[in-house]
Order: sequence, then C-alpha cells, then structure tokens
Amino acid sequence: MNPLNNLIVSTLHLFPKGFVKRFAMRYIAGEQIEDANRLVGELNLKKMLATIDVLGENVNTREEAIVSSDAAVAVLRMIDKNKLNANLSIKLTQFGLNIDKDFCFDNVNKVMETARSFGNFVRIDMEDSSVTSATLAIYERFRAAGFDNTGIVIQAYMRRSAEDVKRLVEMKASVRICKGIYIEPEAIAFKGRDEIRRNYIGLLRMLIEGKCRVGIATHDDFLIRAAYDIINQDHVTRDDYEFQMLYGVRSDLRDKVVADGHRLRVYVPFGKHWYAYSMRRFKENPQVAGYVLKSVLTGR
Ligand SMILES: Cc1cc2nc3c(=O)[nH]c(=O)nc-3n(C[C@H](O)[C@H](O)[C@H](O)COP(=O)(O)OP(=O)(O)OC[C@H]3O[C@@H](n4cnc5c(N)ncnc54)[C@H](O)[C@@H]3O)c2cc1C
Repeated sequence: MNPLNNLIVSTLHLFPKGFVKRFAMRYIAGEQIEDANRLVGELNLKKMLATIDVLGENVNTREEAIVSSDAAVAVLRMIDKNKLNANLSIKLTQFGLNIDKDFCFDNVNKVMETARSFGNFVRIDMEDSSVTSATLAIYERFRAAGFDNTGIVIQAYMRRSAEDVKRLVEMKASVRICKGIYIEPEAIAFKGRDEIRRNYIGLLRMLIEGKCRVGIATHDDFLIRAAYDIINQDHVTRDDYEFQMLYGVRSDLRDKVVADGHRLRVYVPFGKHWYAYSMRRFKENPQVAGYVLKSVLTGR
C-alpha cells in the first residue's frame, strides 16, 4: 500500500463511526438477522453457499457471551426455517473463551447441539495467536464429544500450522485454510507474501492428501490457480473441497470459480458489532483509502 493509503487506513479509527459505516457496509449484510437472510437467499439463487457470522468478538462478561450463543442459535433456526443453503461461523472469544474455557465450551455446546439437530455445521474461526492453542483444544473437545458437524481454521502465516495440520489430518478434520488476518510477530508467523503462499499450498496439499474436507479460503488468483492444480487429481472429488470468499470481496472471482464448476461458499457477517471486522477488511483493501479520500473531498 502506498504511504498516503497507509496513513488514511491507519487513521480511520479517528473518523466518526457513522462515516466509517458507509464503507463498512460493503463487507456486511446489515445489522439485522433479516439482512443476512435476504443476502444468503440471493447468494443461493446464484448457486453459492454461505456461512453466516454474527459479528462480535472478545466479550468481557458472561451475560454478553450468553447473548452471543442465543444469537447463534437464532441464526441456525432461521437457516432451517427458510431452507437456506448455509452454515454458521463463530469466534470463540465471543462465547467467553477469554473468561473461562469450560464456560465457553458449555456456551458453544448449545450451538453445536442445535446445529446437529438441524443437520447443520459450525465452523470455528481462528483468531489471533493468543488463542490458537485454546481454540484448537476446544475444537478437539467437541470432536471427542462426538460432534462431527464442526470444523476449524488454519492460518498459513503461522509457523506452527504444519504441526497443527498433521494432528488435524489424524482426526480427519474439516479445515478451512486461509492466509491469516491478525498482526503477529515474525518469531511465530511468516511475513513475506511468497513464503505465506508457499506454506498455504503445502498445507492444502497435506490436507487433500490426508483426505480432510477443505475450505479453500482466498481471493488470491495465484492461490486459486495452485488450488485448481491440486484438486484436479483423479482421486479428489467435488465433495472433498469448496472455495470460500468473503462477502464484499472480489465478486468477479467468485463468479468465475462457480462458472468453473466448483462449490463456493460466501462468508456473510451481520450484526451491530461491525467495527472491528470492517477495520480488518479495510487494511487488506488497497482501494478503501481512495474511497475515503474521495468522500472527504466531495463531502458525499
Ligand atoms: C471465507 C474466509 C474466512 C476467513 N476466516 C478467517 C479466519 O478464521 N481467521 C483469519 O485469521 N483469517 C480469516 N480469513 C481472512 C484471510 O486470512 C485473509 O486475511 C483474507 O482472505 C485475505 O487474504 P487472501 O488470501 O484473499 O489474499 P490477499 O493477497 O490479501 O488478497 C488477494 C486479492 O483479493 C483482494 N482483496 C483481499 N481482501 C480484500 C478486501 N478486504 N477488500 C477488497 N479486496 C480485497 C485484493 O484484490 C487482493 O489483491 C478468512 C478469509 C475468507 C475468505
């Protein structure tokens, strides 16, 4: 990103929330569950699947964590009632991971049970490195408790990921692989674009060869091409993988992947806590600074 863009993105938190919201909404279905319902219906008509995320992370109280679990259950009910082709993505810090791990497990358990009763699936997103081990441990607890309707996420920028993937292959886990979005120290994370891509491809190979179901989450043309080479092997079937992209990012690429005959799932966040999520998206979007500057200069 050029220095001006960098400056704009790094000072966005100083702008009034109402101003930031205008840009944030391109990545978010809306603030209400009905917004997610409508958007997922539209995506399904375009032969795209969805995973719905109720925005929020790092809650500080048990009350807030319980509210999160009720909201997640409501999404699963809505998916079932409206026969949407969608599942759920959750972040464990939203369910109390940083308050008490057993409390978090019990809180998520309600969500897992509801999903299982509807024949649905819950993906546990991966957050920053302070909770990687705890997130994997809770995932393993659910698998050990017999929940096969859940999956986890591996970040290709983390140096530990190859070891984690070895373990996940043994468990025949369902794994979403992404580059990773949090800012991590070099001691534990790859920093260079090429080394992250190389690790991503290596991990994807391990997962496919290890017969894990994989969600290939990226908007990077280079990685999509590499993934096509890996999945174009005789033993890989359409059920073994899907591509995944974020709502609001590269809809051109989304359409191409579907036209090429692959399954594609769109990550659809909604809710009132859109700020932290959209700030992360802005940092990856080289164009956002231009939109902001234009809006400041034109007053629109
Ligand atoms: C479905 C899904 C789930 C994810 N879940 C997690 C998770 O659980 N944990 C985690 O740490 N990360 C998660 N991520 C984020 C991921 O780690 C990356 O930060 C993000 O996907 C960008 O990486 P990329 O592979 O698309 O490559 P990049 O090189 O970042 O992007 C490739 C191209 O896509 C476009 N692009 C990328 N981002 C944007 C944007 N915000 N706005 C506009 N254009 C953009 C640009 O044209 C860019 O050149 C998820 C991503 C996806 C797609």
